[in-house]
Amino acid sequence: RLLRGDVAKREGAWATWPRAGSSGPGSERGVSDSVHPLWESVDLVPGGDRQSPINIWWRDSVYDPGLKPLTISYDPATCLHVWNNGYSFLVEFEDSTDKSVIKGGPLEHNYRLKQFHFHWGAIDAWGSEHTVDSKCFPAELHLVHWNAVKFENFEDAALEENGLVVIGVFLKLGKHHKELQKLVDTLPSIKHKDTLVEFGSFDPSCLMPTCPDYWTYSGSLTTPPLSESVTWIIKKQPVEVDHDQLEQFRTLLFTSEGEKEKRMVDNFRPLQPLMNRTVRSSFRHDYVLNVRAKSKPATSQATP
Ligand SMILES: [Zn+2]
Repeated sequence: RLLRGDVAKREGAWATWPRAGSSGPGSERGVSDSVHPLWESVDLVPGGDRQSPINIWWRDSVYDPGLKPLTISYDPATCLHVWNNGYSFLVEFEDSTDKSVIKGGPLEHNYRLKQFHFHWGAIDAWGSEHTVDSKCFPAELHLVHWNAVKFENFEDAALEENGLVVIGVFLKLGKHHKELQKLVDTLPSIKHKDTLVEFGSFDPSCLMPTCPDYWTYSGSLTTPPLSESVTWIIKKQPVEVDHDQLEQFRTLLFTSEGEKEKRMVDNFRPLQPLMNRTVRSSFRHDYVLNVRAKSKPATSQATP
C-alpha cells in the first residue's frame, strides 16, 4: 500500500515556495505554506471524478484484447522550439496539419502532436506524476496531442471530452540517453521562466521505449484548468536516463530573470483518487498465476 511518509514528502512538494509578493513578518525565514503561482487560484478539490495523475495498481488493471498497438508517426521538421514556461520546459511542434500524429491503440482517429514536457523531483526518489503499484519514478515525459477532427485548435480541444491524448513515459535511472542529451544541451539557454530557444528537427519517438505495452484510462490535465479532457496512455516500460541528465533538469528555474531564484523541481501534481474508473492494459498479465507459481516451492519446503 501507500507509504505514508513518502506520500507526505511528495505532496509537500510546494511547501517551501515563497508566498508571491510576501513581505510580512516571517517571510525572511523562507518557510511558508504557500504554493507555486500556477496553483494559487485553484480550488484544493476541483470536484471532478476523473482527475489525474493516479496510481496504477498493476493487478487491478484489466487486459483489453481490443487495444491495438499505438501507431506513432512524427515528422522531425515540425519541431519548433523549447521554452521554459515557469513550470516545466516544453518542446513545441507545428500543428496546423497532420504531419506529426498518433493513431490506433484506444483512439478512434488521429491526434496531432502539440508539445512534450517533463515532470521531475528534487531528488531521484520521486518526480513522476503517475505511479505504478505506488512506485515513483524520478521523472515522467508527457507527449500532448489534440483531436483535430473534432476541434478547431488545441485550446478548444483541451477543454472538452476526447479533446486530448497524452502519452506518459516513465524515466528511470540507468544508462545515459544519447537522444535526450540533445535536448538537455539546450537547457542552459532557457534557465529562466519565459525564455525560448530554437530547437529544430527532433523526432520525439526517440524518447519512447521499444516495448509497445501500455495502460490507458480517462483523466484530466495535471495543471490548471485540470479539464477532464485527456485519454491517458501510460507506457509500461520506462526509458533510462542517467543522474547527470536529471541534474540538468534541476538547474532550470521557476523564476524570471531578476526574481529571487527558485529551482524548477517537484513540478508534479499529487495523486488523485481513481473513483469509478477502470485502467485497461494492452497486454496480458498473469499476476495471480505468478503468485501461485512462486508460492508452490515455498509450500513444499515447509512440508517436513
Ligand atoms: Zn505533464
